[in-house]
Amino acid sequence: MLTLSIQFHRLASSLLFLVATLGLQSCGIMLLSAEEEIQMGLQAYPEETGKYTEIKSGPNYEIVQRVTRTLAQQANADVAQSFSEPFKWECKLLEAPKTVNAWCLPGGKMAIYTGILPICKNETGIAVVMSHEIGHAVLRHSNQRISTNMILKGAMDAGQALFGGSTETTGTLMSALGMGAQYGVLLPFSRSHESEADLYGVELMIRAGYDPWESVDLWKRMAALGSSGPEFLSTHPNPENRAQRLAEAIPGLLQKYGKKSSR
Ligand SMILES: [Zn+2]
Repeated sequence: MLTLSIQFHRLASSLLFLVATLGLQSCGIMLLSAEEEIQMGLQAYPEETGKYTEIKSGPNYEIVQRVTRTLAQQANADVAQSFSEPFKWECKLLEAPKTVNAWCLPGGKMAIYTGILPICKNETGIAVVMSHEIGHAVLRHSNQRISTNMILKGAMDAGQALFGGSTETTGTLMSALGMGAQYGVLLPFSRSHESEADLYGVELMIRAGYDPWESVDLWKRMAALGSSGPEFLSTHPNPENRAQRLAEAIPGLLQKYGKKSSR
């Protein structure tokens, strides 16, 4: 039992090392084609949005549509660099007052939940959230995330196949491998995606004519919410740090586009 445990531990360590090396060295690893990626997005869209009532009129609806059009116009050029077909942009406003969330799928299908509107506060605030989410899609972050998960799953399956997966030792070590993967690879990987999407987002805002400084205010408002905004904050950690990093980046980005700073 002890020998098995040690052997398994060695295997788990080397698999974890392999996964960590692959994950960290190839931040841009993508196992799905652009077509597969868009297909996954199109399939997921009705499944997720179908769970909510869609708001199809009123001032908030109009604002969301205007922001989508304005940002998409600019983002199309970036899409053309990585995808063979243009995105079919669409943003559904979903009635969910307690859901502080928004997302953009590969292919340009987006959703914004009414629960995030009070934190967005105004049109520019909505543009902050949407331009960040567009960043994840245009920079193909879900492809990279899915690819990393595929590699992780392969590593775990290999461990399970070797050791039957039924003993307590195996279970404990498998969860250790999962934990290690979660804390060793996925979290930093996803943080780097968050920074990339933040920077892409403010640049897209500048190109689209929105004031990028609103992003700093929005992340401060998000920070003030603390744990009462769990869904968005669990995937978007450290709002104070993000506000600070954005404040440092914005002056240079405004200069790059020859725009005056409002602060
Ligand atoms: Zn994000």
